[in-house]
Amino acid sequence: MNVVATTKPHDVRFEKTHLCRLCGHRVEDTFVDLGMSPLCESILSHDQLDAMEQYFPLHVLVCRNCFLVQLREYVNAANIFSDYAYFSSYSTSWVAHAKSYCEMISKRLGLGRDSLVVELASNDGYLLQHFLPLNVPVLGIEPAANVAEVAAQKGIPTRVEFFGTAMAEKLVAEGRLADLIVGNNVLAQVPDLNDFVAGMRRLLKPEGIITLEFPHLQRLIEENQFDTIYHEHFSYFSFVTIDQMAVKHGFKLIDVEELPSHGGSLRVYLAHQASERRVAKAVADMISRERDLGYFKLATYASFAEQVHRTKRQLLAFLIKIKDEGKTICGYGAPGKGNTLLNYCGVGKDFIDFTVDRNPHKHGRYTPGMHIPIHDVSAIDAAKPDYVLILPWNLRREIVQQMRRISDWGGRFIVPIPEVEVIDPATQQP
Ligand SMILES: [Zn+2]
Repeated sequence: MNVVATTKPHDVRFEKTHLCRLCGHRVEDTFVDLGMSPLCESILSHDQLDAMEQYFPLHVLVCRNCFLVQLREYVNAANIFSDYAYFSSYSTSWVAHAKSYCEMISKRLGLGRDSLVVELASNDGYLLQHFLPLNVPVLGIEPAANVAEVAAQKGIPTRVEFFGTAMAEKLVAEGRLADLIVGNNVLAQVPDLNDFVAGMRRLLKPEGIITLEFPHLQRLIEENQFDTIYHEHFSYFSFVTIDQMAVKHGFKLIDVEELPSHGGSLRVYLAHQASERRVAKAVADMISRERDLGYFKLATYASFAEQVHRTKRQLLAFLIKIKDEGKTICGYGAPGKGNTLLNYCGVGKDFIDFTVDRNPHKHGRYTPGMHIPIHDVSAIDAAKPDYVLILPWNLRREIVQQMRRISDWGGRFIVPIPEVEVIDPATQQP
């Protein structure tokens, strides 16, 4: 079976200067510097533990022209995503979110047998599968062959390719144009942002709609979500920056919704500038809200780093205190964000005995950098730890529900972000 890879030596890029991924302006201002870190998804097998690991800077910059928060591309993206360990369907709440989206958007746009829905980075078909019972034709585009294969088994036509203008031209040449293009949590992972957005413009019918979901920068800043920063995420978006991106490529933003997913996301709706679709009031409201919050000022971005340093000190102080009391801690989850947190804070096996994950592809392997073993969820029942540190804190509600039984032995949960919080499942709701 095609399992977790990305352990081969990476194609490393060295560029002295960095030009903004969106506007091309020279970018030099720091948003936050999280030091050196291995690639978050490069989980290791047992025989790789003694080998040298590649570390790359996690130094995030902000463009003073368009305010796109961004990471330089240190590693070739084709290298990261061609064989990927992330299967969306392992998160129950994410699949439910996808299902209600499909039902809502089919109704809103009146999609039917003659429509075409294209999802970019369609993963294992977690979303497109819900269009099948609605009789809406779909096409998935997914660069990771191992993940795309799972989608194909569900009967979802999937092309194993990176999306951009070249791919869009190919589809248009085949006579395929989209009524709806869906991009959930993909924009951040695109190194050539302008080529990607230009490709969507090419592929979209004149009155078609694009919906994009991405973690909202405002929430990242306000809730200390520094662990959502990793090498695979090249860009971090505010609404005002997405608006500039839309205009640059001949789109207009026609609606926006705030969603609870991934710590707080935006779902934005784009249409061709010439389209007849009306612009909802929510668009102007969101722009003025971000303007009032200072998202057109460099100082707003520059204050984030100290917040991150304080969060690190608070988490370490708490973990040191409970270890000094002789308590045992294990982790829950081995997501990308967990690895940024563990590596940046220096939390290794001296704090956490092991972590668990529902994805069997990760079992028997080790987290990058900190080398914490990853087991099946049942390892928690066997070890009965005093504390379970929830690494995918965006799924805290789901995890606390599923693991409520740790209260049988007096176990409690620790949620590290936005600040350390202890949840006793015997007395508290998540
Ligand atoms: Zn820029």
